[in-house]
Amino acid sequence: MKYIGAHVSASGGVENAVLRAVEIGANAFALFTKNQRQWKAPALKADTIEKFKRFCKAYQFSPDHILPHDSYLINLGNPEAENLAKSREAFIDEMERANQLGLKLLNFHPGAHLNKISESECLARIAESINIAVEKVPNVVAVIENTAGQGSNLGYRFEHLAEIIDQVEDKSRVGVCLDTCHLFSAGYDISSLQACERTFTEFERIVGFQYLRGMHLNGSKTPLGSRVDRHHTLREGTIGTDFCKFIMQDDRFDDIPLILETIQPEIWADEIKFLRTLAK
Ligand SMILES: [Zn+2]
Ligand SMILES: [Zn+2]
Repeated sequence: MKYIGAHVSASGGVENAVLRAVEIGANAFALFTKNQRQWKAPALKADTIEKFKRFCKAYQFSPDHILPHDSYLINLGNPEAENLAKSREAFIDEMERANQLGLKLLNFHPGAHLNKISESECLARIAESINIAVEKVPNVVAVIENTAGQGSNLGYRFEHLAEIIDQVEDKSRVGVCLDTCHLFSAGYDISSLQACERTFTEFERIVGFQYLRGMHLNGSKTPLGSRVDRHHTLREGTIGTDFCKFIMQDDRFDDIPLILETIQPEIWADEIKFLRTLAK
């Protein structure tokens, strides 16, 4: 079965994210559990946690299909010791928040080397950051998102994801989320069914579908291989819609959250309907 939703707003409290997901006809969703542009946030209140769990249960959202995203400030591969420590601390806090909400996944962008250390050194730091976090916090899987490769951000090649996973000690606590806009911007063609087949065969060979814990379904405003991350709506932009058909008809994408991060929240309900029409 396909679980489709969007990255909904949690303004006014994380429990509101559940209700917003219901409004758009979703059976999966993503959210920030704190302000994504700030380092620190007040702890989740017991009342908020209780409401979040109660709403999820009432509307039948399973923790397997809820994909919280961490703060944009965190860089788990930061070359500077002090900043790396700050990122690791914030990431552990994000994991704890997810765990408190009864969630099992935490989606994050791997990190950037800032042109100060090599790619391999940066990937090793990211893996070490994951090792530290999963040892501190139980239950939550660290879900690495592929990137567009903008600036010095790593994670734009499947080989980067594999190199991180390879150095994570507990493989049951690491996973991957593939963002379609980022794939395309990074140079992975998904603009036709044949191109999708080639790209996902390569993913299987280098990383493996056993690690795939979620997808971000986005159109792109930039051409193949641009290395520039600009999301579009699902049906406009440079990729076309064959990738939607491919994903909806392939059972390797069953039972994981398929999340829209498209740019017009007012058409999310319609985009979800469109995706459902493509399913077998
Ligand atoms: Zn994404
Ligand atoms: Zn993006």
